[in-house]
Amino acid sequence: MIINSQKRSFGRGAKVSLFTLGTMRATESLEKMYSIIKNAYYVGINHIETAPSYGNAESLIGNSLKKLAIEENIKENNWVITSKVLPNGDFDFLKNNFKKSLKNLNREKINNLAIHGLNLKQHLDWVIAGEGKKFISWILEKELVDQVGFSSHGSYSLIKDAINCEVFSFCNLHLHYLDQSKISLAELALKKGMGVLAISPADKGGRLYSPSDILLEASKPFHPLELAYRFLLAKGITTLSLGASKIEDFKFAEKLRNSQKKLTKQEIIALKKIKNVADEKLNSTKCEQCRLCLPCPNEIPIPEILRLRNIAIGYGQYEFAKERYNLIGRASHWWEEKNSSFCLECNKCVPKCPSKLNIPVLLKETHNLLIEKPKKRLWS
Ligand code: SF4
Ligand code: SF4
Repeated sequence: MIINSQKRSFGRGAKVSLFTLGTMRATESLEKMYSIIKNAYYVGINHIETAPSYGNAESLIGNSLKKLAIEENIKENNWVITSKVLPNGDFDFLKNNFKKSLKNLNREKINNLAIHGLNLKQHLDWVIAGEGKKFISWILEKELVDQVGFSSHGSYSLIKDAINCEVFSFCNLHLHYLDQSKISLAELALKKGMGVLAISPADKGGRLYSPSDILLEASKPFHPLELAYRFLLAKGITTLSLGASKIEDFKFAEKLRNSQKKLTKQEIIALKKIKNVADEKLNSTKCEQCRLCLPCPNEIPIPEILRLRNIAIGYGQYEFAKERYNLIGRASHWWEEKNSSFCLECNKCVPKCPSKLNIPVLLKETHNLLIEKPKKRLWS
């Protein structure tokens, strides 16, 4: 059965559905992976995203696609596959690992390969002039992938450099309705003809599958997650990743599988209402994310911390904001390293803020609001 769903050009590669199946949460068994991929197919998804670091996801996918071809007559070549490699290691190591990925996926080649976690300048150097360059040239020359892209949790300027370095044809970015700080980078990438995948708009986008009463009320008649998806699709973001672990997770992907049109009047009104409610709750203390307060001499990530404050107070997503705040300093280069407690109250940032925010006071307040005591270890 052919499933009708809109597809978009993804860089130089095969066209992809508006939603991409992330496979990280379906690795517990072959039955689970098979059922998730089968459901993805029947809601119009043709793009699967995976990584060798997702346990045995690649071999589960390889076996599931084989089984789907036999049992459901879904051709294996109809799927667009994206896998990833981390930006380190030498040529032989990368080559051997990539060959293992192909074997696990039961493929001669895959469509897309993302250099995953291009978070530091040294990672980009590795791509442009190091062992990464050698590896990328090899896989493209051997036609083992159609195109190479990147994903990044790095700074705005690093991502901009990666988009402009002319090596990549697609990028996976953190693009969210509640965090629009990278939207202009996505627009830049799209303008250059690159494909753009939004990483986890449901979970990393503010746990929108579990919205606060504030968001639920303001979004009516839509669900906050549905609106967040529509916001990104209407912006032209090529595809949105969906890390499904159960059938219900496909609800909005099914509903929105042909929804690349502009925002409707009703959606615009609902989005405006969400913004107005948040503005009202934050009163005159909303951080507009302009980044003009940077650099802080003490490297405090002011906009990131105040964004979590916006999300907690303005949108009522406290649990999400707490989780992210308490991860600061604990995730190496995958997230920020310093929380508000490192602010020396030198006040150098204050005159730079066009919103006239008392930044050190707000940082302190955010810390008190979101910090959690270290969890007691069960074994001590
Ligand atoms: S007051 Fe704090 S956040 Fe502002 S510049 Fe000084 S150390 Fe950085
Ligand atoms: S300058 Fe002010 S509004 Fe802009 S990011 Fe910094 S704190 Fe937020």
